[in-house]
Amino acid sequence: MAIKDRILTGDRPTGNLHIGHYFGSLKNRVELQDKYETFIEVADVQALTDNFNNPEKVQRNVKEIVIDQLSIGIDPKKATIFIQSMIPEIAELTVFYSNLVTIARLERNPTVKTEIAQKRHIFGESVTYGFLGYPISQAADITAFKGTIIPVGEDQLPLIEQCREIVKKFNTIYGETLYMPKAYLSTNKRIKGLDGNEKMGKSLGNAIYLKDSDDEINKKVMSAVTDPKRIRKDDLGNPDVCMVAYYHKLFSKNSLDNICAECRGGKRGCVACKKELIANIIDHFKPIREKRKFYEENLELVDKILSEGTKKARITASETMKDVKKAMKIDYKI
Ligand code: ATP
Ligand code: MG
Repeated sequence: MAIKDRILTGDRPTGNLHIGHYFGSLKNRVELQDKYETFIEVADVQALTDNFNNPEKVQRNVKEIVIDQLSIGIDPKKATIFIQSMIPEIAELTVFYSNLVTIARLERNPTVKTEIAQKRHIFGESVTYGFLGYPISQAADITAFKGTIIPVGEDQLPLIEQCREIVKKFNTIYGETLYMPKAYLSTNKRIKGLDGNEKMGKSLGNAIYLKDSDDEINKKVMSAVTDPKRIRKDDLGNPDVCMVAYYHKLFSKNSLDNICAECRGGKRGCVACKKELIANIIDHFKPIREKRKFYEENLELVDKILSEGTKKARITASETMKDVKKAMKIDYKI
């Protein structure tokens, strides 16, 4: 089907957005909103799949992540920001798509598998139906808005793949109705955590948040994992195993070669190296934090953006729902 490409992306309101989001997805969003119609979902229903017993946390973070997006330059005139739970068509589509996915296929999804292992403290030995099935609900998010370009981090690739399978199966059985999405990866597709974990994640407690104060950034960077073999300043260091060097790659591009050479030659102490990184992070996020302050002081503006975005999104999703019901022969005229 030839259509105009459309961006659909989103975040779970499980905490503020961090530098993993920033380099992994948000920077792309800001560029893409100028080229394509853009929908950004606040995925509160998905957040509840593993926070069902902590609804306050999800509620608290809805506006927080909207403010994060606006602060980094998402323009509500170009991008439609909406709340997932206020679009009932997504829940309906989830039910319809559930028939097209086997339990075994869900259990094989590598991202779901990793996340279940990380969430044993929540689920114990047996995971909930809702969490196991969240890739189906995510396929509903994407297809409800005819999303074709999906800017995501690397952890999302298996979910996009699963969505593509659902689209293919739906169109094969019911006729060409849904649009095929593809993932759009940034060059920084997976930012590591302060603790050296392969992924910085808001549920993993290893993140530097866009809203962190100077003091918080200072504390976090000072505690970041460095080369464990390096004890004294003149010991020869290995930046390849140091999280501070890793973040310098993102924030100190111009002086990176020099930083690494000095570290390898034992000419740069870890404390000085951390201080330089702290200064660069603070500098980088200064305009973003100023913009955040503006929205924090004008919360009624944030409400208006969300309310208008959600209304607009609902219209789009209901158009898709009409096509889907017609294709599935459940568009009763009674
Ligand atoms: P949670 O731990 O609650 O799942 P999260 O930090 O993974 O939170 P999400 O809201 O699930 O954040 O993800 C939003 C988007 O940001 C997704 O596209 C995801 O791939 C991307 N993203 C999240 N963390 C990173 C990271 N460390 N590096 C690159 N992209 C990331
Ligand atoms: Mg996640």
